Order: sequence, then structure tokens, then C-alpha cells
Amino acid sequence: MTPEETTARADALYTRVRGCERCPLSRTRTNAVPGEGPLDSDILFIGEAPGMNEDKQGRPFVGAAGKFLDECLAAAGVSRETTYICNVLKCRPPSNRDPQPEEIAACRDYLDEQIELVSPRMIVTLGRYSMARFFPEHKISSVHGRWKEIDGRFYVPMYHPAAALHQQSLRATILEDFGRLPRVLERARALSTAPEPEPATESAATPTESTGSQPRLLD
Ligand code: URA
Repeated sequence: MTPEETTARADALYTRVRGCERCPLSRTRTNAVPGEGPLDSDILFIGEAPGMNEDKQGRPFVGAAGKFLDECLAAAGVSRETTYICNVLKCRPPSNRDPQPEEIAACRDYLDEQIELVSPRMIVTLGRYSMARFFPEHKISSVHGRWKEIDGRFYVPMYHPAAALHQQSLRATILEDFGRLPRVLERARALSTAPEPEPATESAATPTESTGSQPRLLD
């Protein structure tokens, strides 16, 4: 796919997301929040769902959690402008309640297509809903900040930045985990085989343990 084709497909995807009526969240949202960032980014972050500020502005992570995410990115030496950021759900659940399984299912192929279009070297999940997709068998408390590699792509589960707002003691842990990202990314970039673009199918977009590997921690 040429960069122009990728941009055209992303624009078409964003238009579909903004007009989406697949689930009842479309009736309570102000704006859908497709996601944003350069389509050639090496890193793709996946949060949970838009909150109040995101719903108002139609952009991901622009509220309090976003402010802390910016701090985390700074700890990783990464700028927001160079990363792609999106969510599992594209519309705000009322009162920021947890995403429901049928909402996650309704939104799933939007996320699949974003992963396919960006084809990042590293996917960083923020919180348990995005983690559940790639690390279904793990608990965030035991794998946060670790990584696993599948077919040349690295997956890193992180606590959600909002967790630090509710539990101050997690702040340092999250910043420390983000501080390790550059070295994981370095490894990911060093892999000679670039990741194959993923077809947007369930089996390909869900890395079930082809490696059987446990998430690892860089020493
Ligand atoms: N929390 C999320 O998971 N995503 C956002 O976009 C904002 C807050």
C-alpha cells in the first residue's frame, strides 16, 4: 500500500467511525473518537474508551489521564506527535462505566484496521481492556512493563494512566515502565524482519500464543 492509499483508507475509516451506529453508545456520544497520529508510527498505544473531554473534543487522551500520558511519553523520550493513539472503544460509555463485551465486539474491526494500517513495531496497551486482547491469560499486576514478541511485533502491557490518578502509589511504577520503552523499541527495530501487514481478520489480529512465550522484562 502506498502512503497515499494508507491515508485514504484511514480517512475513510475515521469517517465510518464518526458516523457509526453499531451500538447504543452512538446515541449518547457527542463525538466519536477514532484515534490520531502518524500512520507510519513505530508505536501504537491503545487505551480503553473516550472520557468526557475526549467525547467533547473528538480526540483521544486530552483530559487528566491524557496529561499524565504526556508525562509518561516524556519519560520514554517519545513525543505524542510521533505516536499513534487510539482506544478499544471509539465512543464514550455513559458516566465512564466499563466497556461492555458487545461494545468491544462492535468496535473491534475498527481497531483491527488501525493496527493493519499503522503496522507498528510495538503495540502498547493501556489498561486491562486493551491488554485483554493481546494478553488474555495474564494479570496486569504481574506483566505491566514487560513485553512479548510475536511475528516481529512487540507487545507491551501498561497500567492505564488514569490508574495513577486514583492510586498515587502507581505513578512511579508507571513512569518506570514507560522509561523502559525505548529499549524495547530498540529491540523491536533491530529485528531484521519487518512485521508483515496484518489482514484485518480475527485470527491474524489476535496473536494467540504462537511463541508460547511469557512476557519478558528487559534487564
Ligand atoms: N482514557 C482512555 O482510555 N482513553 C482516552 O482517550 C481517554 C481516557
